Amino acid sequence: MHIDRGDFPLDGHIPEEIITKIRGSQDIVEVISRHISLKKTGQNYTGRCPFHSEKTPSFVVSPGKQIFHCFGCATGGNVITFLMKYESITFPEAVKRLAHDAGIEIAERHRKGERGEKFLYEVNKAAADYYYKVLSAAKEAEPARNYLLARGLSIETMKRFKIGYSMNSWNGAYDYLRKEGFKEEDMVKAGITATNTSGSGCHDRFRGRVMLPICDIQNRVAGFGGRVLDDSTPKYLNSPETPVFSKGHLLYGLDAAKDSIRETGYAILVEGYMDVIALHQAGVTNVVGTLGTAFTINHLRLLNRFCKETVLTFDSDPAGINAALRTMDIFNDSEVKAKVLLLPEGDDPDTFVGKNGKAAFLALVQSAKGIIDFAIDRIIDEVRGRAPDHGGSINSKVKGAGDCLSIIKKISNRIEKDQYIQRVSRGFGIEKEVLLSELRRGNERKKGVLPEKVKETAVERPKAEEILLSLLIRDWALRKMVGDLLRVEDFTNPQFQEIAGHLLRSERDIHEIINSEECNQEIKDTMTKMAVNEMHFDSPEKTLSDCIRALQRSRLEKEFKEVEKEISAAELGGPFEKVKELLLKKQELLRQKRVLYEN
Ligand SMILES: [Zn+2]
Repeated sequence: MHIDRGDFPLDGHIPEEIITKIRGSQDIVEVISRHISLKKTGQNYTGRCPFHSEKTPSFVVSPGKQIFHCFGCATGGNVITFLMKYESITFPEAVKRLAHDAGIEIAERHRKGERGEKFLYEVNKAAADYYYKVLSAAKEAEPARNYLLARGLSIETMKRFKIGYSMNSWNGAYDYLRKEGFKEEDMVKAGITATNTSGSGCHDRFRGRVMLPICDIQNRVAGFGGRVLDDSTPKYLNSPETPVFSKGHLLYGLDAAKDSIRETGYAILVEGYMDVIALHQAGVTNVVGTLGTAFTINHLRLLNRFCKETVLTFDSDPAGINAALRTMDIFNDSEVKAKVLLLPEGDDPDTFVGKNGKAAFLALVQSAKGIIDFAIDRIIDEVRGRAPDHGGSINSKVKGAGDCLSIIKKISNRIEKDQYIQRVSRGFGIEKEVLLSELRRGNERKKGVLPEKVKETAVERPKAEEILLSLLIRDWALRKMVGDLLRVEDFTNPQFQEIAGHLLRSERDIHEIINSEECNQEIKDTMTKMAVNEMHFDSPEKTLSDCIRALQRSRLEKEFKEVEKEISAAELGGPFEKVKELLLKKQELLRQKRVLYEN
C-alpha cells in the first residue's frame, strides 16, 4: 500500500514525536474493536479480518506491541495503518482523525502544487452549499420545493440530506463558485460545470434539477445526482466519474446510514435516491442506494465493513427478478449474507412506505428470503408453472434442475448444500441420488479443466534468522545484545536482510518504520507478522544468543569454504606470500569456529 501524505506534509513537518504521541493516545484494541469484534486469545486478540473475506479468524491484534497482522492476507500495521485501510483515508487523514479523538492539536499547512484530491471535495462542498441555498430561498426554486413537499419530504429531511436545486441557467453555479474563488478548471474537474463545445469556457452541468449530494463515508461530497421535476429525460443525471466519484464504489446515504447499519447488523439496499430518503424519513435508517448502476463487489466490500447481512430490495417484475439473480454471484464466497425482498407489484420502497408506514416495511424485511432460497424457489415455481402435458416440460425440468445445481455447487457448507438438494428433489420430483451424482459429475468435469485452488502459503518453520528478528522487533532492549556481532549480510533471505538493516542500523522502533515511506509494504507486513506471532521463549536473551551464534557459525562456515578454495587456487602457482596469508586466515577462522562451537 502506498502511503499518500496528500497535501498535509507530515514528513519532516510534523515531528515524529508528535505522531508517536498521537498514536500512543489511542489503544489499538479499542480502536479496532469499534469496527470489528475481537476476542482475547492468549496475549493477543483475534477476529475476522476486515480486509479479506474469511470465515475463521486470522486477524491478530497485539495490545503489547500495538500492532495488528492478518495471517490470511498478510496485511499488518499499527493503528494509523488500520484507519487508513479501514476508512480508505490517507496517512495524514488517519493521524488527524486520531489526534482529533484524543484532543491533540496539530497545525495544518499546505504545500504548493500538491493538492491531491482535496480540492474536488472543496468544489463539491461549495456547490452543495449553493444548491441548498437556492432550494431554500430562491424564488425560482418554488416549483422544486413544491415538488419535494408533494412527494412527502419534510423540511427536516431536505436539510438532513442537504437537498438542493440547480437553477435553470447556464451559469448559476459557475458564477457562485467563481465568486467563492474557485478556478474554472477545478469546477470542470469536479464535474459541476462542463467545457463548452467551442472548447473555451464552461457551463453548468446541472440545470433545473433537484440536487442530491452524494457523500462518501466520511461525509465528504463526492458528487451529485440531479433529478428533473417533470417527465423529461434523463430523469437522473449524475456527476461524471472523477477521482473521487465512482458509481461502482459509492452508495447513496451510507454516510447517514452507517451507524444504524452497524447497530442493526444489516443494511437494506434500494435502487433509487428517493427510496433511500423516504425510508430514512419513515424511520428506517439502515438504508443505502446504488447510484443508478448495478450492485458491485466493491459495494459489497464497502458494506462488509459495517455489517454481515444485506437485504436487497427489488421490484417484483421480471426485470427486478433478473437483477436479483444477477446479484447472487457477487455474494458467493462472501461472508455477507444476502436476502431478497420483493416489493408488491407496482410499488417501490418510496411508495410502499408512504402508503403503509415503517412497521409494514419492516415486516417485509423480516419475510425476506435468503438469496439462494429465493433463486431456487423461483426456478422451481417457474418450471412447475408450465403445464405438465406441455411438450417442453421434461426439458424444462432438466434445465431447471441443472440451473439449481449450478447454484448449489457454489455453496461450501455441506449441511446447507444437502438441504437445498432435498428441496430441489422435492420440487422437481427427481431422486436425491440422481441429483447428487449429477453434482459430482459436474465437479469432476471441472477438476480436469481448472487449476487447483492455490494453496494457502504454509507457515514457514521458524528459523534462527526469523526468530532473531522477531525477538528484536518485540523487545527493543535486546538490540544492544546484537551490537556488532552480526552484519546484514549474515541473513540469507533478502527480505530478512532488509528488516535486519532497519533494526540493526537505525534507532527507529517498529512504529516509526511502519510510518515511514522508505520501507516497502511487503517488508512492513512481514515485520508486523513477526511482531504478533505467538512464539514464546522462557529466556529471550538465551534464545537470542543461540540465534546469534547460529548465524555466526554459518557465516564462518561460508568464509572457511571460501578461504579453502582460495588456498587451493593459490597453491597452484600463486606467490608464496599469498598462500601464507591465506593459511593464517584459515587458522584464525578455525580458532573462531572452536570458540563458537565450544560455548
Ligand atoms: Zn486479512
